[in-house]
Amino acid sequence: MKITFAIAAAVLAMGTAVAAPVKYNIDPNHTYPSLETDHFGGLSVWRGKFNKSSGSVVLDTAAGSGTVDVKVDTSSLDMGHDKLNDHVKSDAAMLDVAKYPDATYTGKLTKFVGGKPTEVDGTLTLHGVTKPVTLKLKQIGAGKGMKGEQRVGYVATTTVKRTDFGMRCHCCDAMRFGMRQSDGVPEVMKSVREQMRQGADHIKIMMSGGVASPYDPLDSLQFSPDEVAAAVQEAKAFGRYVCAHAYSPEAMQRAAHGGVRVIEHGNLIDDKTARLMAEKGMFMVANLVAYYAMRERAAEYGMTSDQLAKNDLVIGGGLKSLEICKRAGVEVGYGTDLLGALQVEESREFILRSEVLSPIEIIRQATTIGAKIVRQEGKIGTLKAGAYADLIVIDGDPLKNLGLFQEQGKHLSAIMKGGKFHKNRLN
Ligand SMILES: [Zn+2]
Repeated sequence: MKITFAIAAAVLAMGTAVAAPVKYNIDPNHTYPSLETDHFGGLSVWRGKFNKSSGSVVLDTAAGSGTVDVKVDTSSLDMGHDKLNDHVKSDAAMLDVAKYPDATYTGKLTKFVGGKPTEVDGTLTLHGVTKPVTLKLKQIGAGKGMKGEQRVGYVATTTVKRTDFGMRCHCCDAMRFGMRQSDGVPEVMKSVREQMRQGADHIKIMMSGGVASPYDPLDSLQFSPDEVAAAVQEAKAFGRYVCAHAYSPEAMQRAAHGGVRVIEHGNLIDDKTARLMAEKGMFMVANLVAYYAMRERAAEYGMTSDQLAKNDLVIGGGLKSLEICKRAGVEVGYGTDLLGALQVEESREFILRSEVLSPIEIIRQATTIGAKIVRQEGKIGTLKAGAYADLIVIDGDPLKNLGLFQEQGKHLSAIMKGGKFHKNRLN
C-alpha cells in the first residue's frame, strides 16, 4: 500500500556565485524518478521509472535555506512491461495520466548537516491530491561539468501511502486494510475498532475453516465464545454488526450465541442450527456458484488438490442448505464469493438456486432480502419514491425464465444506477 519514490538528480548550476543563493536546474538527461510499490499486500513489488521530469533547486548554503520544485510527466512512466504500463497509467484508481498528466513536488530545504541539505519539507501533488510529504536527501557527488558549470548529485527518497492520494488498487486495499489476525479479547476489540475507524459497515469473522485457505480444516472452530462476543460488542457500540464465515453447525451455533447477525456460506447447516438462527432473527448469505465454478476451473488458476477436496465437501451441502433455511424461516441473501477470473459467473447463481427455489424467491433474495441484510431496506432492492434509482429492464419475464439474467446482460434492455443509464436500448 505504499510507494517509495527515489529521485537521483544531477542538478546544474546556472549561477556561479558561492555566497548568494544558487539556482540549480534539474538535468532532465540524468534525472529519472523511480518508484517501487507493493502489489497484493506485499506478495510482489512493482518497480518503474519516470523518463521525463524537470524543475529546479535554489540553495543558499550560507543561510541554510532553499527551495525545491520538481515536475514529473506521469505518462513517461516505464515499468518494464507494456501491459503493466497501460494498467497503471490508464486505471482511474491508479495514475490516470490522461486526467493527471503531472505529479509535482514543491518544498523548502529544512535541515542541513555540514552545510549540505538533508531534508525537504513540502507537498506532493499526485493523482490530483495534494498532501504534505518530506523528502530525505543524500548527496552522491559534486564537481565541475564539461563547460565549467557546477554539478551536484542528490538522491531524494520518500514513502507515501497510495490510498492517501486516492489510488485504490482494489486487490491491495482489500488485502492490507480489510484483514487482520487477532488473538484474544483485547486484540479482537482493537481490530474491530480499527476496522470501524476505517469505515467498515460490518465485520466478518472467520468462525470455521475456509475452502481457499490452505491449512485449516473446515470444521475447525476459530474464535472462542468470548472473542465472538467482544467483536459483537464493539461493532454494536459503533452501530454496526458482525457476519461470520462458517461452514459447520458448531461454528454457526457459536456465532449465533455470541450475537452474530449474518452467517456467510453456511453450506453444512442442519435443522437445529437453522431453527436457532430463525429464533435470533439471523440471516444467511449463501454462495453456491463459487463452489461449482471452482470445481470446474479453479485448478487452472492454481488451487491445490487439498483446497479442491474441501470444495467438494461443501458443494454437497449447498442446495440442501437453502431448503433447510426455507423450512426454518431463515432469510437467505444472494451471494457469489467468486474469486478473480471466475467473477464472470455471478448471474449463474440464479440458475443453480432454481433447483430448489422458485424464481420469485431467488429474485427477492437478490433484492429485498439483500437490502435488509445490509440495512438499506427501502433504499435499494426496491422501486419506489425515496429509493436509489437502481434498476434493470429485462427483455421477457424472469419469473418464467431465469436464463434472462445470464449471458452478461444480453437480455437486459436498460441498466440504471443512481438515476443514470449505463445501458439503454429502449428507444
Ligand atoms: Zn468466507
